[in-house]
Amino acid sequence: MPHDHLGLFDTPPNRRQIRLGLAMVGGLLVAFFLILPVNDIRLREIQVFIPVLDAVMFVDELIIATLLYAQARVFRSRALNILASGYVFAALLLLPHALTFPGAFAPDGLLGASANATAWLAAFRRIAFPLGIALYAHLKRAETSAKPGIARPIPSAAFGVYSVLALAGAATILAIVGADVLPPFFANRTEPVSANLFAINALTIVLSIVAMAMLWRPGSVLDLWLLVALSCWLIQSLLNLTGGARYSVGWYGLVSMMLVSSLIVMLALMAESNRLHARLALTMAARNRERDARLMSMDAVTGAIAHEVGQPLTGTIASAMAGLSWLTRERPDRERAIKALHDAIDSGNRTTAVIKSIRAMFAKGTGTATEISLNDLVRETAAFLDRELAGENVALEFTLDEALPPILADRIQIQRVLVNLFTNAIDSVGATRGRPRRIAIRSAPLNGQDVLLEISDTGIGIAPEEMTRIFEPFFTTKGTGTGLGLSLCRTIVEEHGGRLWASPGEPMGATFHLQLPRGGRAGP
Ligand code: ADP
Repeated sequence: MPHDHLGLFDTPPNRRQIRLGLAMVGGLLVAFFLILPVNDIRLREIQVFIPVLDAVMFVDELIIATLLYAQARVFRSRALNILASGYVFAALLLLPHALTFPGAFAPDGLLGASANATAWLAAFRRIAFPLGIALYAHLKRAETSAKPGIARPIPSAAFGVYSVLALAGAATILAIVGADVLPPFFANRTEPVSANLFAINALTIVLSIVAMAMLWRPGSVLDLWLLVALSCWLIQSLLNLTGGARYSVGWYGLVSMMLVSSLIVMLALMAESNRLHARLALTMAARNRERDARLMSMDAVTGAIAHEVGQPLTGTIASAMAGLSWLTRERPDRERAIKALHDAIDSGNRTTAVIKSIRAMFAKGTGTATEISLNDLVRETAAFLDRELAGENVALEFTLDEALPPILADRIQIQRVLVNLFTNAIDSVGATRGRPRRIAIRSAPLNGQDVLLEISDTGIGIAPEEMTRIFEPFFTTKGTGTGLGLSLCRTIVEEHGGRLWASPGEPMGATFHLQLPRGGRAGP
């Protein structure tokens, strides 16, 4: 069975996406080498820069987390759940980061924090990002090699969110309260302590490289964009290694790169889910069109027959009534009565001729007999009728013998028969209340050379005296029925060298038996 890719989590990236990813990494490298020579030049202190940037990244990372949690649910993936939680953690740290940033909301930052509290919060974020992705890559590997997604429990997003809330709270307290014991990153508001900054950047770089190595050869579109985001992370850490003073060119550059890093993932996630949604909508539309076309074929044929036959039939009735009235007069007019009755016979013959010609045309159909699996055709037809089944709240029960041999038959015609039998069964169950609403379909080989399909419903059933009449043309008990369905079905089946008959259902409803020879006799 072909594997349907459901999302950016399991769709491998195409060449265009890989090229775009590489181009982005190239652009980032160019930016890095452009900034490097002017790294240390001080620029104006734009105090709103950090709060604005943090606010944008906060929203951005929460959007990423939401999209990832949704995918985690669909794929029942713990890996995606952890990644989403990682993004929530990173987003949460931005709040105290902005509040404590010196000069942002208060000259020395809010929350009574020292200059280093902000730096430590930033450091936690830096480490958390590659660490989260590495953890995701590790868990994902385990998931792809384990049992299919459907067997796994759905990971809890709430648990993920509560855990990272606690974790982010602890990290904030540690950064603020422990600022005096933790090694400092800044000597004052802007000047870095190089050795400690070097250590944290070295750690980030190592972690980023490890995470990149784990994601190497991206198996999905998401992996590809995480790799690009990690490259961004790597480059900004390299920038930080070489300078690090706040409000320098390098610092503005690296902070902007952080933003780019999370924007890339968000935009990719959004573009991909949109693309996927559009593709799904198109597939659904195509499927509905195909379904309507196939279901309509029976309606269209019966409609055409009713129309063609209606006219001569009305003529027959009118002539017969005229004949009768000539005969029942006080002084019957034999001549005219005989003529009218002859007209009635002519119209009757025309009706039969029309039926015969339509039957012949219909029964021949495309005339191409191919080897088909009746079981597959049954399943496919049942899937077509999902709306009708759901509308009447009818459940299907399959007992299909998988050892059923293939048959030689006209696929479209046999499908018409199945559609008609299913539709009749659904109508019949739909007309009942207070009993099981079920259609059981059983297939089995018969006598070594035939196949037998039985469709049993729990509907209103068929009166014994009507058991054979229902196959006559125009016999119907439905207000809007044409009474042609079963008659045409029987013609088709007999054209194939098979048989179609009905029997009372056990313990209620009706059973239709369809017997077809393996070799078939389809075609003219
Ligand atoms: P139509 O569905 O237009 O009436 P059909 O030839 O398909 O024409 O069916 C003829 C009649 O046979 C129906 O009107 C109905 O009375 C009866 N019939 C067919 N299938 C079933 C069924 N599964 N259960 C009960 N009655 C049925």
